[in-house]
Formats: sequence, structure tokens, C-alpha cells
Amino acid sequence: MTSLKLENVCKSFGAVDVLRNVNLDIKSGEFVVFVGPSGCGKSTLLRIISGLEDITSGTLSFEDEVVNKLTPSQRGIAMVFQSYALYPHMTVYDNMAFGMKLQGGQGKAEIDKRVREAAAILQVDQYLDRLPKQLSGGQRQRVAIGRAIVRDPSVFLFDEPLSNLDAALRVQTRIEIARLHETMADTTMIYVTHDQVEAMTLADRIVVLRDGVVEQVGSPMELYHRPTNLFVAQFIGSPAMNILDGVASSNGASVMIPRPSSDPLALDLKDSSGRLDKVQLGVRPEDLVVADGQTSLFEGTISYLEQLGEVQHAYVDLAAHSKPLIAKLPSDAQLSRGETIHLTAATDNLKLFDADGKAVAFAA
Ligand code: ADP
Ligand code: MG
Repeated sequence: MTSLKLENVCKSFGAVDVLRNVNLDIKSGEFVVFVGPSGCGKSTLLRIISGLEDITSGTLSFEDEVVNKLTPSQRGIAMVFQSYALYPHMTVYDNMAFGMKLQGGQGKAEIDKRVREAAAILQVDQYLDRLPKQLSGGQRQRVAIGRAIVRDPSVFLFDEPLSNLDAALRVQTRIEIARLHETMADTTMIYVTHDQVEAMTLADRIVVLRDGVVEQVGSPMELYHRPTNLFVAQFIGSPAMNILDGVASSNGASVMIPRPSSDPLALDLKDSSGRLDKVQLGVRPEDLVVADGQTSLFEGTISYLEQLGEVQHAYVDLAAHSKPLIAKLPSDAQLSRGETIHLTAATDNLKLFDADGKAVAFAA
């Protein structure tokens, strides 16, 4: 049972600021995912929590005790990396037992019990006598996770553990990690990924990082439904949320969205404190539906169709906008390239962003 608190954590490598004023409370037993583009500081933040990297300024506490100066082994953490880092000359059993032997203080029988329990959880119990090279990539990663479980850490850290696995195995191992979190309900887990699907499916809460700054913290559905800014809005969801620049206009009290065949749609603003000189309209591909010409929000020409079987993606060129609008539509909708299409979305599903990219609330 370990809660974590990061207060104004900053990290610089020489003159380069990699993390800027990170503040974060992680509850005991929580599964928190750090997500963000490559190079945004996810691994650095995880390594700071593990003790592999020191903090330039700010404090890190475990259960209200400042641990800035504690070594990795004093922190009771275990870490699983993208590369499995198993000892090639040791059997699966020995790889899993090694950390515990090194820690000391446990008898042979206790070590044996824990290794077998962890192996059973991860379904590698048939392979205990094998060498790593006799295992598939997925099995090796499970052994690496098992080795961490055996040490019974209070905080479990994962750094892109699925990146080296092929797509099918990635999904399977992802589900195993989710199950592991249920089995080890008291263990705090922090998981780094650049993959928003992993973040959405695994996390109790997601921390979105960009250039060393926390952009938003929230449950997967909070981030999906209520992104506080453009970056988060476009990072979560696939295909990404459509952002229409220069389509909407604002008079401070409401935002007007022009419609092809009817009066503009007016959305009353709840809060007009943002920089509303430039309003961007956001709408997710899955929220767009085919409409008739009378009430539609958008009219355009289908420039490309991607049939995925369960759905199809229509790329629609709008007269007023340079980038195509992407709509996720039923796969059996009869559509063809070059055809004119009308699309609309429920008002509740429209998002507005001000000139700084901050979400603007409107009275729905
Ligand atoms: P992520 O895991 O999100 O891809 P990292 O935390 O690995 O990002 O890196 C964040 C930034 O810090 C990158 O620009 C990277 O080049 C830089 N960085 C990471 N480690 C070091 C280091 N030891 N020395 C100098 N720069 C580093
Ligand atoms: Mg990384």
C-alpha cells in the first residue's frame, strides 16, 4: 500500500528542461498511465519515481515520506522495461528467483512459493526450466513481469512493456496486465506508453504529458468527453478529433457555426473568459452522422473512403476548410468517392477551443 505525491518536480539535463513543475497525487492501489508523444518526458518521470534518476528540484513522497534521496532498492519498487533484460544463461525459474535472492531475507521455500505463484499468474509455469532464448517474445516479457511480481513491490513501474510485441500478443499481454492489476489490488501501478489505446484500456487515471508538462489528468472517459485543451482532445481517440479552424465565430456571448442550408447554429457560452477572437470547432469522427441537406452542419465532397469492415472512414473535403473532415460511418452506408455528403453531430458532441487551444464551455 503506497501512495505517491509529486510536488513541483522539475528535471533538467544540462540546460535542457525535460520536466517542468509536475504535480501529481497517485492513490495507493491506483493504476496510473503516463501517456504522450515520444520525447515528452514519460520515461524520465518514471525513472525519477524509481530512483534511477535524481530530481533537479521539487519533492517526491511515498506515503508522505520524502524519498528524493532514497536509492531504488530502498523504495520498494519494481520496474519492467520495453526490453526484457532477462539473464540469458539462467532458466526462467532462476531469472524470477534472482531478484529475491539478491534482496536476501527470504528462505528457499518462500522464494520457491512466490516464483511458482507468479509463474502461475502469468501462465509461464510450464516453462520454468527453459532458457529465455527458448521462449517467444511474449513469454519473455511475462517472465520479466513475473520477476518483478516475485519481489512483491509496493509500486510497480512499467515502461512501454508491450512495445516489442506484435499486435496480437500486445492485446493479449495488455489484458494480462489488466488482470494482474486486479490480482494485485494493493499494488500501485504506473505505466508509461505512447499508445492511447493502452492508456484508455488500462488506466484508472491517465496523465497526458507534452514537452515535460502535464496537460491533463483524468479518468479515460473524462479525457475522452471533457478534454481541457486541443492537445488532449486530439491525442485521445482514433482517428483524431477533427479540428476546424476559422469556421466558427464568436461575439463573446455565443459562438456561431455556419451551416450550408440554414441559419448558423448558435451556441451560448457558459464562460467567455478565454481568447475568443479565434474559435476552433472540434468534432470526433465517430460523432458525425449522415444528415439531410436541410439541417446538416457540414456539406462536402467525399475525397477518400477507407472500408475497415466494422466501420468506414469517409474523408470529406469542405469548401471552408483546408483539411478533410473524417467521419466514422457504418460500413454498410452506400457511399462513393466524389459524391456530395451532408454530415451533422449532436450539439452535445461539439467541442469549442479558444485561440490558446483551451476548451471553452458552452451552455448545452
Ligand atoms: P519519453 O519516454 O517520453 O519518450 P524521455 O523521458 O526518454 O521521453 O526523454 C525526454 C527528453 O529528455 C528527450 O528530449 C530526451 O532526449 C531527453 N533525455 C532523456 N534522458 C536524457 C539524458 N540522460 N541526457 C540528456 N537528455 C536526456
Ligand atoms: Mg520512453
